[in-house]
Amino acid sequence: MKKIRKKLRLLALILGIAAILFAIFYRPADNSPVEQEISYSQFIQMIDDGTITNIDLQQGETHAKAQNAEDTSVIYLVEIPSVTVVSEYIQSKIAEGSSVELTIDEQESSSGLSFLLLLPQLMLILYLVFMISSFVRMFKKGKNGGSSSNIPNSPFTTSLFNNDTHFYEKTAKSTVTFKDVAGLDEEKKELMEVVDFIKHPEKYQKFGAKIPNGVLLDGHPGTGKTLLAKAVAGEAGIACIATSGSEFVEMYVGVGASRIRSLFKEAEKMAPCIIFFDEIDALGGNRDHNAGASEHNQTLNQLLTEMDGFAGKHAITVIAATNRPESLDPALTRPGRFDRKITIHLPDLKGREEILRLHGKNKPFDETVDFRNLAYNTAGFSGAGLENLLNEAAIVAVRKQHNAINMDDITEAMMKIQVGLKKTGRIISEAERKLTAVHEAGHAIVSLFLETQANLKEVCIIPRGSAGGYTLHDTVEDKNYISKKELTERLVCLLGGKAAEDIVLGDISTGPSNDLKVATQTARDMIIYYGMDGDIGPISFAGASRTDLDIFGEKTLSSVGDKIAEMVKKAEEDAKKLITEHRSLLDELVNRLLEKETVSGEEINEMFAAYKK
Ligand code: ADP
Ligand code: ZN
Repeated sequence: MKKIRKKLRLLALILGIAAILFAIFYRPADNSPVEQEISYSQFIQMIDDGTITNIDLQQGETHAKAQNAEDTSVIYLVEIPSVTVVSEYIQSKIAEGSSVELTIDEQESSSGLSFLLLLPQLMLILYLVFMISSFVRMFKKGKNGGSSSNIPNSPFTTSLFNNDTHFYEKTAKSTVTFKDVAGLDEEKKELMEVVDFIKHPEKYQKFGAKIPNGVLLDGHPGTGKTLLAKAVAGEAGIACIATSGSEFVEMYVGVGASRIRSLFKEAEKMAPCIIFFDEIDALGGNRDHNAGASEHNQTLNQLLTEMDGFAGKHAITVIAATNRPESLDPALTRPGRFDRKITIHLPDLKGREEILRLHGKNKPFDETVDFRNLAYNTAGFSGAGLENLLNEAAIVAVRKQHNAINMDDITEAMMKIQVGLKKTGRIISEAERKLTAVHEAGHAIVSLFLETQANLKEVCIIPRGSAGGYTLHDTVEDKNYISKKELTERLVCLLGGKAAEDIVLGDISTGPSNDLKVATQTARDMIIYYGMDGDIGPISFAGASRTDLDIFGEKTLSSVGDKIAEMVKKAEEDAKKLITEHRSLLDELVNRLLEKETVSGEEINEMFAAYKK
């Protein structure tokens, strides 16, 4: 057996070399036309200006060939949205009097000649496939002691044969499991149920239970949604096809829908499997908000059709991710579609510690690093954020030639991440420095007088990233709930920068635009999600669709808008009051900032203590 294989490999090698030589030296007859790829818009342009006179379409193909009858030395190749779209367009041109000619072939018509021309390439491909599969076989053998392997499912070979697959990524059998997902215990428990649906559908059918075939994961970016989807596939022992909603939003009508079709066709071939759609909102956003976007509708409708088509067959489970579930078209969340929603939370203290441990496993740390403590100081970080933090810390440690990563490296990495990279070499005008100092001192001073705002860590007027300066607060507490008082005071703190500019400089800059955005968003959330406004009452508008909103009436809706404005305005007034009242303390901090650029939280506390006396 071994001998035969050896001989076979030798034969393959010889054949392969022959094929390569053939491919290199063989030139088809010189007068054969050259092929030139053109874009779809060029294609349309060339039809319009008469450069293209003959078009060859093939039913079910995503490419078309085109030529000029007078100059047959070039064949233009173009990727088309669909045969129907193109033929309709050309028919309309013909109707307008264009002399362009259209041929639509029913099926593959590869003539013997063109097959011969492709022979060297075919041999090369065959050789490659052979070598790769024997490589895969060897590899697998080494790994699991020579069990039989199913080559067609290997990730190496499948990718070789696919042409238009650049919009998704598929893994023959997901190797990710729940062990690779740290924390998220509740979420994993819920998803374990989905795994059970996939593995034992009969169990549920016996009880007449309908099995969901669409699961929606709702959570911030970087919280591990993609990872979880792959882990579900891994736990169920099936394949996973991952794609993103944004891949289906195209300029050309019909491309999105045809991609959905080919995606599901591929999935059917690989079934049982999971299709993972990241950013589903890109293609499944509320149709109301995109009135007139017919491309969008087509794509979404195609997705709905496909999902309805395989409902009840359990061979394909679609998992979609979004961080704006409220913006999804209600048609998507109807029974039989994404009817199961799982919220993926930002990791809590314990979760963060576990994630840090998991991603810290392959890195050296010295004794100053305590993951528990680090977890404590990274409230609000996502899993991806924590992974990135450790990575940045490792880079800092290497740059400083440390033997292991220490806490200072991590702190430096944290600063870098939170406010972007330190800018070097930009010359800042004195006026700009003053403006930044006033703005940041405004945030800082206001927060000193607000009970619920965490202690200041550092205020700085050196620009980093897109921010001119920054005010950092300690991150100490880990909490799942935030009180109304805290949110209200956060608004005041956010408006502190703008208020100080206004009072001290008598003018405001474009600087606070981000503060205002965050403040408005916060006020909005307080009213429509948390029911924190006394007049509107404890009503949540979360996930409400247009029709749901109708029951509240225009008056309620417009008063929500008024309330948001009122809340932010009130916060600004409060901030201004605090600043006017404690103007001397603000001026002191501004001067200190201009002098030192960075002022620590301790220093500010000392100033504060002296001021209070
Ligand atoms: P999302 O899809 O929610 O944006 P991803 O799944 O792409 O997030 O997460 C990006 C990366 O962050 C993952 O590949 C993983 O390395 C890391 N990560 C995120 N959450 C976790 C977690 N709970 N446990 C371990 N790693 C995580
Ligand atoms: Zn600001």
